[in-house]
Amino acid sequence: MTIHHLNCFTCSARIPANWHTGMLCLLIETDQGLVLVDTGPGLEDYANPPGIVRIFKVATIVPMDPEEAAVNQIVQLGYQPEDVRHIVLTHMHFDHCGGLPDFPHASVHVHRREYEAFTGYIRRWTDFAYVRRHIAHRPKFVLYEEQGEKWFDFPAIRLPFEPEMWLIPLFGHSRGHCGVAVKTETGWLLHVGDAAPVGLEDDVPDWLVKFAMGPHVPRLEEFDRTHPEVQMVTSHMDLEFFEN
Ligand SMILES: [Zn+2]
Repeated sequence: MTIHHLNCFTCSARIPANWHTGMLCLLIETDQGLVLVDTGPGLEDYANPPGIVRIFKVATIVPMDPEEAAVNQIVQLGYQPEDVRHIVLTHMHFDHCGGLPDFPHASVHVHRREYEAFTGYIRRWTDFAYVRRHIAHRPKFVLYEEQGEKWFDFPAIRLPFEPEMWLIPLFGHSRGHCGVAVKTETGWLLHVGDAAPVGLEDDVPDWLVKFAMGPHVPRLEEFDRTHPEVQMVTSHMDLEFFEN
């Protein structure tokens, strides 16, 4: 089984100037075809950036290089866009699902709460990061809710793929935000999306981490310390992560 780690959105903070992050999307070869975990922005976002990107640029430097679009990287790897049969979303903010229109054949797997937050009324500040046109092509959604199962001691939802994958509700950063766990040959890969700032937490005050990432950071850090068989990654990894 192969997991490709794609950087689909380079983003550097203006302050502090030492923050250079990429956006981690996973491309996983499964028995059900290619599964993409988060998409990054899509081709239309590069051609015609949504308003939220302009707001984003106040605090960050975003090169918006179309080479980073998931669909272009997947073609570079020798696949066709149609080979991506399934997309699993940690959440539906513009930088995580903007590429959905580039994979119109893919089923989109997401927590029901997140789908309802995206399609419902704006209720909190993070809802402004939803861009409606990202689902204007009416993809086939597969919506999930907790059924009492667990992954380690996290409430979790089994996804219909082999190798084993789980959707792990970590609500807070957005209303229906989830992590995604993937069984690997050596243990597990846990992608916690925007629920924790791995590698960056030392520079950031706790209140700001909780405000931006939600309430799960202390628990995830503890889990990371006590479970060496689980490799924990977040959406916005330091650029060095992708270079290695
Ligand atoms: Zn987000």
